[in-house]
Amino acid sequence: MQTTGARARNWAGNITFGAARLHRPTSLDELRRVVAGAERAHVLGSGHSFNRVADTTGDLLRVDGLPRRVEIDAERRQVTLSGGLRYAELAAELHAAGFALANLASLPHISVAGSVATGTHGSGNAQRSLAAAVTALEFVGGDGESFTLSRAADPERFPGAVVHLGALGVVTALTLELEPAFEVAQWVYPGVPLATVAARHPEISAGAYSVSVFTDWHSDTATVWLKRRLDREPAEHPGERWLGGALAAGPWHPIPGMPATFCTEQGGVPGPWHERLPHFRPEFTPSRGEELQSELFLPRAAAGEAVTLLRAMAAEFAGVLQVAEIRTVAADDLWLSPAAGRDSVALHFTWVKDLARVLPVLGAVEDRLLPLGARPHWGKVTAAAPATVAGCYPRLAEFRRLAESLDPAGRFRNAFVDDLFAALP
Ligand SMILES: Cc1cc2nc3c(=O)[nH]c(=O)nc-3n(C[C@H](O)[C@H](O)[C@H](O)COP(=O)(O)OP(=O)(O)OC[C@H]3O[C@@H](n4cnc5c(N)ncnc54)[C@H](O)[C@@H]3O)c2cc1C
Repeated sequence: MQTTGARARNWAGNITFGAARLHRPTSLDELRRVVAGAERAHVLGSGHSFNRVADTTGDLLRVDGLPRRVEIDAERRQVTLSGGLRYAELAAELHAAGFALANLASLPHISVAGSVATGTHGSGNAQRSLAAAVTALEFVGGDGESFTLSRAADPERFPGAVVHLGALGVVTALTLELEPAFEVAQWVYPGVPLATVAARHPEISAGAYSVSVFTDWHSDTATVWLKRRLDREPAEHPGERWLGGALAAGPWHPIPGMPATFCTEQGGVPGPWHERLPHFRPEFTPSRGEELQSELFLPRAAAGEAVTLLRAMAAEFAGVLQVAEIRTVAADDLWLSPAAGRDSVALHFTWVKDLARVLPVLGAVEDRLLPLGARPHWGKVTAAAPATVAGCYPRLAEFRRLAESLDPAGRFRNAFVDDLFAALP
């Protein structure tokens, strides 16, 4: 096992974790010993969150040194994988075995366990958050003992435990639902007016299996990425011109000026699901972390109103924005999922890496969108106070009870979670 006293940082470098020690156990026994001996502990996944959700004052743990597991159960269409794997590492192996995950996030470099813990999502009207594919979780709990929660055996508690903010224990393995491998082709349409996005969002988001709308908000146009699933949709684009935009002649990067070589292949060239659903290729680091991200999930019916509001206030925030993305997520039943109980539209913002400039404008954006029912992403920056965030998640009090029952000593609680719980009545 490696243990260092060096201060770890997140991918973006905007967070230096408070933990005194960082451990990388190589066996379950080593992991159990660290947990049992820690006053407070938390797991650091691939470190792609932009806030202190993974932080602890005690012992920080990485689980990517534990023995690797990828066990495919072809009959039940499930895979059980170890808690340190990233989507990129899993996806190629699944594809080689003839299987797929229903959806992926914008980049495959993120860890599966960390993505699930924060309710990470891709896009698609019928695509639920990545966490919704989980059917079982294996934990090492605060006493150092292992326990498993599954949808089949524990239908009451399981939906509360999947999006868990690292507050229930160390996830050592996850089981995910699979489907047969499929191909995807993607096309890009720059120049779609934002007025059209506001007026015809249902039509745009229904344009393909997975749709992303990128905009800088101040040019008043958007670039729409259509990702069609070829076993369900025609392998053709909707026309040279579509909703006021024109089919891109060459490859695009979501952030103007960044090389499109970082991006998955466009132009309608069919390819495996894991090489088209993410925007970025696994072999490239999409950027050097020179960014901060925020995201707000609204009821999908509010999409048009939200776009209209953001267009009207674009001058207030566009100066600190690199790019924004609008996606859709289908409802799920996971207590802390940002899409819990409602089909959602997710409004994402990639900001410049300057929190002092970002926070005031983000506050202004959130002031407009929170009244429409917005819920902040658990892994990204918000200007909202913990009490406001707590109020966005109606089942947080139930989650607190679950956390208290599974981890009575509060070993896996951190300041991020304590602040949320303290805001509850
Ligand atoms: C460039 C970039 C692109 C992104 N794209 C998207 C996107 O398309 N969609 C989206 O929704 N989000 C996106 N995100 C956000 C990202 O998916 C989330 O922040 C996610 O949590 C990252 O996973 P991670 O492993 O890096 O988590 P970390 O930040 O390392 O940890 C997040 C939480 O998970 C917990 N955790 C991690 N592993 C374990 C484990 N084994 N056991 C117990 N707890 C654990 C941590 O304790 C913490 O609470 C993006 C982020 C970046 C930097």
